[in-house]
Amino acid sequence: MSFKDLGLSTAIIKAISIAGYKNPTPIQYKAIPSILKGKDIIGSAQTGTGKTAAFVIPILQQLDKFKHQKKSGIKVLVISPTRELAFQIGDSFTKYGLFLSLSNKVIVGGVSQFKQIADLKKKPEIVIATPGRLLDLVNSGYIKLNDVQTLVLDEADTMLDMGFVNDIKRILKLVPKKRQTLFFSATLPKGIKKFALSILNSPEEIVVAPISSSADTIEQFVCFLPKNEKKDFLMSFLKGSQKSRTLVFTKTKHGADRLVKQLGNKSIKALAIHGNKSQNARQKALNDFKAKHVSILIATDIAARGIDIEGLTQVINYELPNIPETYVHRIGRTGRAGINGYAISLCDNEEKKHLNAIESLIGLRIPTYQQQH
Ligand code: AMP
Repeated sequence: MSFKDLGLSTAIIKAISIAGYKNPTPIQYKAIPSILKGKDIIGSAQTGTGKTAAFVIPILQQLDKFKHQKKSGIKVLVISPTRELAFQIGDSFTKYGLFLSLSNKVIVGGVSQFKQIADLKKKPEIVIATPGRLLDLVNSGYIKLNDVQTLVLDEADTMLDMGFVNDIKRILKLVPKKRQTLFFSATLPKGIKKFALSILNSPEEIVVAPISSSADTIEQFVCFLPKNEKKDFLMSFLKGSQKSRTLVFTKTKHGADRLVKQLGNKSIKALAIHGNKSQNARQKALNDFKAKHVSILIATDIAARGIDIEGLTQVINYELPNIPETYVHRIGRTGRAGINGYAISLCDNEEKKHLNAIESLIGLRIPTYQQQH
């Protein structure tokens, strides 16, 4: 199966080949033809499966095909739980739409509205937004959603976990009833599926690599040690893998900041990314990490969900998450798009119960990391 077989235009095929993709991933060859036909989709797919391109590519193709239509409003609205993911989706629209004259703008909270209002005056066809800022700008009259033809809810489970359900319901009232809706979620528990079915019109269900299957391109280890030894272990581990690009997860924002300081005291440079940082600081940390100016990023779950960092070699769980699915999301930052990754979890006595829950979710006993002395 090649991209050409999916009925894509030459302009899009050219942009895809510049991106370096040879063949569509499973979610892409399953979703693209249906989205091109205008169908609603309920897609269960982890990040790292090529999910973003699976909806961005057919949306671009359809928009381009019908661009002579008179309506000048926002035609495609993508709702994302986090600001970082919103920017990443925006980048995908730009990347795959390189040879099309379609514009996209990202509207997120945590930064001044000024530039966003100016951006909206340029009449983008595509808007990618986080729910709160979108509604603020709707309320102040800068955004109208009555021309939306395609609505995408990405990482819907995270949005609902983050308490955005009422915002989403309000957004649904603002977009036309007659529309195409694409609903993507890493997990589809009963409640979420029921909600999805209530807003979709005879959707096609696409399931790719359910959340319980952690990518087989990731080598996983667990290291048992007392809590008070974690910091020293992390430092020596990082010193021993200086060529790597490492994402470290902590449980709390405060813990992330503290770790950056402690590493800094030992001349190990790291940056933190979490919900208490300003949007500019978050984006700068992420950009510095992506541009390889710094090789260690310390993150909490909220800030790191869904983000895509090319060539991320390893993930370290400084603390184990108490929600087993979170483990799969965390380690899924590495081993993406077929590249090998490495994940190590530091587990103290109290966290063994979390480890058990994780192992039963992924159906795998995680091998013990042998410390070298
Ligand atoms: P996503 O699941 O959308 O977060 O995408 C994960 C990664 O896969 C991104 O870095 C994409 O650039 C990459 N990717 C998407 N589609 C393909 C493809 N067909 N072949 C190779 N890499 C891809």
